[in-house]
Amino acid sequence: MPGFRELLAQTKKKIHEVDPAEAETRLDDATFVDVRELDEYEQGTVPDSVFIPRGHLESQVENKVSKDKPVVVYCAGGTRSAFAAETLQELGYTDVVSMKGGFGRWKDEGRPWVTPQVLTPEQRNRYHRHVLLPEIGEPGQQKLLESKVLLLGAGGLGSPAAMYLAAAGVGTLGIVDMDVVDASNLQRQILHNLERIGDRKVDSAKKTLTALNPDVDVVTYDVRFGADNVLDIIDGYDVIIDGTDNFPTRYLLNDASLIKRIPVVHGSIFRFEGQVTVFDPYNGPCYRCLLPEPPPPELAPSCAEGGVLGVLPGIIGSLQASETLKLCMGIGDSLAGRLLLFDALSTEFSEVTLRRDPNCPVCSDHPTITSYIDYVEFCSGRPTHA
Ligand SMILES: [Zn+2]
Repeated sequence: MPGFRELLAQTKKKIHEVDPAEAETRLDDATFVDVRELDEYEQGTVPDSVFIPRGHLESQVENKVSKDKPVVVYCAGGTRSAFAAETLQELGYTDVVSMKGGFGRWKDEGRPWVTPQVLTPEQRNRYHRHVLLPEIGEPGQQKLLESKVLLLGAGGLGSPAAMYLAAAGVGTLGIVDMDVVDASNLQRQILHNLERIGDRKVDSAKKTLTALNPDVDVVTYDVRFGADNVLDIIDGYDVIIDGTDNFPTRYLLNDASLIKRIPVVHGSIFRFEGQVTVFDPYNGPCYRCLLPEPPPPELAPSCAEGGVLGVLPGIIGSLQASETLKLCMGIGDSLAGRLLLFDALSTEFSEVTLRRDPNCPVCSDHPTITSYIDYVEFCSGRPTHA
């Protein structure tokens, strides 16, 4: 049986080593894999490294590191990375080098390094099922914790959306609503409960969300969303969830989100039908590309007339939350340019392609609407099928 030194010497014969100077020339085209332990990684790492402790290398690397790109593997001094390089070769990685002298020498020589953002032990536990997903991992969870999402409405759609976003660890949730909790809301608005009847909806929402996840900063706007405050309210948010039930707010939000270039995750519900899409400013159609002007108020049913299956906003609001999480992390394909329709009675999903209107009054090259319009308030009623 060979001792440690012989084993290391044998291993080094089977792999290629480069010094930090040569490794640095590969920063742009190679994947750097840091195989140290978490407490070492937390102190500093090569920028954009993939962190996989040596003990998890075999089980995690294929999910995190492509075999199509060169790999530079490093540890603190160059020993663990030598064994790791051999393992990677055995797993089918064809262009692997181990960095001589490891991160210690890299840092001593004044090469670039960063202190990584890491989750606390409590966060690592809370978000474990996210971290396990290769598309998310710790970097994706960090993005969520740094994300700011604004919800228009703490009602049927806003309730499930806000709860799943809070549970997922979206760091800042803004909520705009000027209503109070009413007993008739409780058939679908799961943010609220019997004890909160008569309370401001934003306060009730904040209580529920903070109890669910103290990582989340809930910012409340107990105001009417209007032309005078729309830009101030939406400023700084990464994504906006439209859970409103009236046309004036939709148009106002659309026009303002184009100015601020903030994507809007749109949802609407009526009776047993719901629809979801993403309005991604200038990258896809906007609301006015579909409906340049609101219909006259007399053609829209009043708020009180529109019944809705209680669970329907749960389904549509959850889809809005899913689209929002993807936008925050920059993963997957969004619903931009696609309207997803759901019919609860027949349990059917269908999809309609949406296109930008080259003559859109706001998002075309020659917009005709250039100031904010406060339309007369009325409810949207039936979903606006394209
Ligand atoms: Zn448009």
